[in-house]
Amino acid sequence: MISSAHISIAAKYIRDGRLVAFPTETVYGLGANALDPQAVMKIFELKERPSFDPLIVHVATVEDAKRLTITQDERLDMLAEKFWPGPLTIILPKNEIVPNIVTSGLQTVGIRIPNHPVALDLIRQSGCPIAAPSANKFGKISPTRAKHVFKQLPGVDYLLDGGKTQVGIESTIISLNDKGFEILRHGIITQEEIEQIIPYHTLVEQDNIISPGMLKSHYSPNKPMYLLEDDLPPTIDKSRAGLLSFFGGNTSGYKVVEILSRDKNLRTCAVNLFAAIHRLEEANIDYILAESVPEKGIGIAIMDRLRKAAYKYRPIK
Ligand code: AMP
Ligand code: MG
Repeated sequence: MISSAHISIAAKYIRDGRLVAFPTETVYGLGANALDPQAVMKIFELKERPSFDPLIVHVATVEDAKRLTITQDERLDMLAEKFWPGPLTIILPKNEIVPNIVTSGLQTVGIRIPNHPVALDLIRQSGCPIAAPSANKFGKISPTRAKHVFKQLPGVDYLLDGGKTQVGIESTIISLNDKGFEILRHGIITQEEIEQIIPYHTLVEQDNIISPGMLKSHYSPNKPMYLLEDDLPPTIDKSRAGLLSFFGGNTSGYKVVEILSRDKNLRTCAVNLFAAIHRLEEANIDYILAESVPEKGIGIAIMDRLRKAAYKYRPIK
């Protein structure tokens, strides 16, 4: 586990323009000094991430968030009061100190305060905001344990092993408009919870919201993955498949079974989701078959990940 000496070393790596993988409450992040374009470039290179996909910037205080934005919007304080530190990313108009490479040339920047003592200590000791996407190769499964990071990014300069992450899926991302907020990426913080603070108002049809970097295929395991709700190819043989089951219902006949939550808790499903897909990716099976859950509350965020993970193998695109 991590000592404060490890965090001090990691902070020096960040100050020196190098990359540090670190735990947050959502997934592990691949961090660099957000104000140093050369350091941020290394994130894109190591992840093989396209330059059109902007990064989220992590800070330790609301004051530090405000240094990155020109907004005077009091809704930032209202949201921060309720959800920060926590898994909510807010897109705000950027200040000129944020390098263009961080935002992929956009005039807005995504910011959040992570709710994890190691992440917060790292940001504080580094003395700078930290740009950090998930610490995986672009388009692949997100890491919820240090070993997942090491599997995909062995070339990272420094890795802080904080054990298993507590939320398990990436932050909810929202943007603000004149009348309210809209959701660019679903996460554990739901629309209903945010609506208790500010109204929901989307400027375009929900399904058509485009956020740069949000692709239909994402979180892909290195094995074919199918959703049981789809028409499966007739050649599929359960006895050669791994099942990703939510609550452990109908699991007979599969070679391997991963049950996300025996006590039928969607939060637990989110926590275990990526680790289960990592294990299935490594298991001696030919393909992964995944169940679905109703798209309500946290179920929306989970099914978003699963549909993207299975995208290449879905009949309906
Ligand atoms: P992640 O890869 O988990 O760090 O999430 C980054 C995602 O946040 C990107 O793929 C974008 O979709 C979204 N994002 C980050 N910054 C912005 C921005 N300025 N405007 C809109 N979406 C953003
Ligand atoms: Mg990611």
